[in-house]
Amino acid sequence: MRIGFVGLGNMGRHMVRNLMEGGHELVVHDLVAQAARPALDAGARWSASPRELAEQCRIVMVSLPGPPEVEAVLLGENGVLAGARPGDIFVDLSTNSPTVVRRLAEIAGAKGVQMLDAPVSGGTVGAEKGTLSIMIGGDEATFRAVEPALSCIGKSLFFLGPIGCGSIAKLMNNMIGLTSHTVISEAMVLGVKAGMDAQKLWEVIMASTGRSVAFENLKQTVLGGNFEPGFMVDLGAKDLTLATGLARELKVPAPTANVALQRYVEAQARGLGRKACPAIITMLEEVAGVQVRASKGS
Ligand code: NAD
Repeated sequence: MRIGFVGLGNMGRHMVRNLMEGGHELVVHDLVAQAARPALDAGARWSASPRELAEQCRIVMVSLPGPPEVEAVLLGENGVLAGARPGDIFVDLSTNSPTVVRRLAEIAGAKGVQMLDAPVSGGTVGAEKGTLSIMIGGDEATFRAVEPALSCIGKSLFFLGPIGCGSIAKLMNNMIGLTSHTVISEAMVLGVKAGMDAQKLWEVIMASTGRSVAFENLKQTVLGGNFEPGFMVDLGAKDLTLATGLARELKVPAPTANVALQRYVEAQARGLGRKACPAIITMLEEVAGVQVRASKGS
């Protein structure tokens, strides 16, 4: 299959490589041309705009930061819809708002273009290995048509129902993970301040009921002092903004997630926006005067 792909960032560049390794022909575009370099070196073709890319591909996938970028790439003057034909398929792999994807799907549908929302989970490691979970909403026949391609980038494909369902599932997943990071930071800083060795505290909690995926990730990030993304604070703030926005839209109180969001906003204000999400702990470390790091040799 020839597939158009827009957005070759921390996630997209791995997805593109896996699609090519799966035997697909790739036409790519990114706002930052340099981001496409590895894909071009591996044999992908460059396209100057999403419109030009859509003119050549019956399936277009995007992995973009969030709603404004997806909207611009789909609906812009040189966007995908300007180059698409009836029967084409647009797959949004970004973490997006269900309300926005439903509106975009309606606009695309009026041009005969089917849209799927297909956000992913599993981080850059999952993207690299092609083992992502993919949460899919939209028309089932459309999903079946792109299932072989999606299988190149994800191991667990969940078809969840009408358009928007993928985004709902993904936002709820991230609401749990990102909110967890805030209390994990508090517990780890408090534990170290109270006299525990950071590594030992992590090990005992890993064998106890406080364990979670967010907690497990501390080993590669906080304990090792490595805050390079991965999944950036800017994206964490975006996802919690979308999740809490959905809660407001539907008048469902979400007090804990709203408090958590403020920690990510504070991190952005302190210039940590492009660091990995666990970097929010450094704000608390500074206040408490301790660092949650593994001692050398452990
Ligand atoms: P990223 O910022 O590294 O990549 C986004 C890419 O899109 C960049 O290369 C950027 O130049 C490009 N881009 C932005 N606006 C554009 C436009 N208008 N036209 C063309 N290209 C444009 O982000 P990422 O970490 O790869 O995340 C992508 C999506 O996947 C996000 O929605 C994110 O929430 C989601 N996600 C990320 C992770 C993760 O661990 N990084 C995990 C799961 C889901």
